[in-house]
Amino acid sequence: MDGHLSENDISHVVDADRAHVWHHLIQHKPFETGEPRVIIEGKGMRVWDQHGKEFLDAVSGGVWTVNVGYGREEIANAVRDQLVKLNYFAGSAGSVPGALFSEKLISKMPGMTRVYYCNSGSEANEKAFKMIRQIAHKRYGGKKTKILYRERDYHGGTIGTMSAGGQDERVMQYGPLTPHFVRVPHCMEYRAQAEWDPASESYGEFAANQIEEVILREGPDTVGGLCLEPVTAGGGVIPPPEGYWQRVQEICRKYDVLLHIDEVVCGIGRTGTHWFGYQHYGIEPDFVTMAKGVASGYAAIACCVTTERVFEMFKDEPEDPLNYFRDISTFGGCTAGPAAALENMRIIEDEGLLENTAKMGDRMLGNLQALMEKHKVVGDVRGKGLFLGAELVADRATKEPVSEKQIAQVVAECGAQGVIIGATNRSVPGLNNVLCFSPALIATPDDIDQITKAVDVALTRVFG
Ligand code: PLP
Repeated sequence: MDGHLSENDISHVVDADRAHVWHHLIQHKPFETGEPRVIIEGKGMRVWDQHGKEFLDAVSGGVWTVNVGYGREEIANAVRDQLVKLNYFAGSAGSVPGALFSEKLISKMPGMTRVYYCNSGSEANEKAFKMIRQIAHKRYGGKKTKILYRERDYHGGTIGTMSAGGQDERVMQYGPLTPHFVRVPHCMEYRAQAEWDPASESYGEFAANQIEEVILREGPDTVGGLCLEPVTAGGGVIPPPEGYWQRVQEICRKYDVLLHIDEVVCGIGRTGTHWFGYQHYGIEPDFVTMAKGVASGYAAIACCVTTERVFEMFKDEPEDPLNYFRDISTFGGCTAGPAAALENMRIIEDEGLLENTAKMGDRMLGNLQALMEKHKVVGDVRGKGLFLGAELVADRATKEPVSEKQIAQVVAECGAQGVIIGATNRSVPGLNNVLCFSPALIATPDDIDQITKAVDVALTRVFG
């Protein structure tokens, strides 16, 4: 840390934070006696807190965001240059970075053609839901308004996206939610549903076929969209089982259901080799939403990307003034987002970070598999690229989860060693037992080994 702030400044910041900031995701009772964590600075894979303690960040800013690492002057300069030229104009007009970033993005997304700008993952998902609903009204006489979502998936914190929330603990106490969102079962083989008969079909086919069953139960003429994460994130880091996506695509085509892929976590390189998670599985989506890694947190930006087929449905029809997509996102007109996003993509390309992510992801998965051999509390390890999880169980045979307190202890023990890891949190009742890892795409072999070494030590300290 290069120490711009004096000790007095820092203690003022901590006091102001404690007195006035309502932090995300956590309870505040501990701050009555202890201190909130304040991150003062970051560089590369590392951050420093108010005490000058250095941490290796294994979760890219806590929530899968800082894909190219901290302290990127190239991005800061690109944003600054853009801001002094033009900081904002409403999205009813175009902007230079908006046009150039959309061109660049679309060049990496065969089959997609249109980018709708907004600010957050939740908002991008809401845009897709609105488009699906409007299509239902325009084309299907107000039918096909139902949107399917999957158990364990998460799509945001607004009332609309919570209605598509597959993690019950995030939704409880915020109802009533909005109608016409319908849940389909999860696709996690490690906790396969009892009805699955491995002799008759693969788990992937079984899980996808359950979506068809829901469509048939609800009535195919009432279902307009299906929203899925390519790899479930906060619900337990769940890569899809073999054969799942092919069948999902077939089902969507068969019943004329628009496929909406939520790439808010997976997008822009997180899963390695490809820019997007869905591109590993040969899927042709109708909507792709993205946010976190798009500009690595250097500016707020989210996008809802669609095909020309979808876009065409909203083209002018002079006799119908309500035909077009009547929506705005004020800060979707900020130019800082696409300016940062363009530079973010350039860095990923120039530094070969898609390839690095695949390589480092393999290394990390291998390290986690070794931990599984050593610690019987590790029941399963899984992931794609630098997006990995380790599920901790008290008993491998019954798969009974360890307690949330024990998971918190493992996270704290890693923190004590200077490594920030994550864990599923307030997600699936009774199953918040997955350690989460998502280092920046710039991670080196030493970084990866330092992370898994810290986990090894933490597991020994907590479980013996
Ligand atoms: N979709 C997924 C898969 C997410 O993990 C998240 C946030 O964690 C969101 C959507 C919501 O994004 P935001 O917090 O930017 O609204």
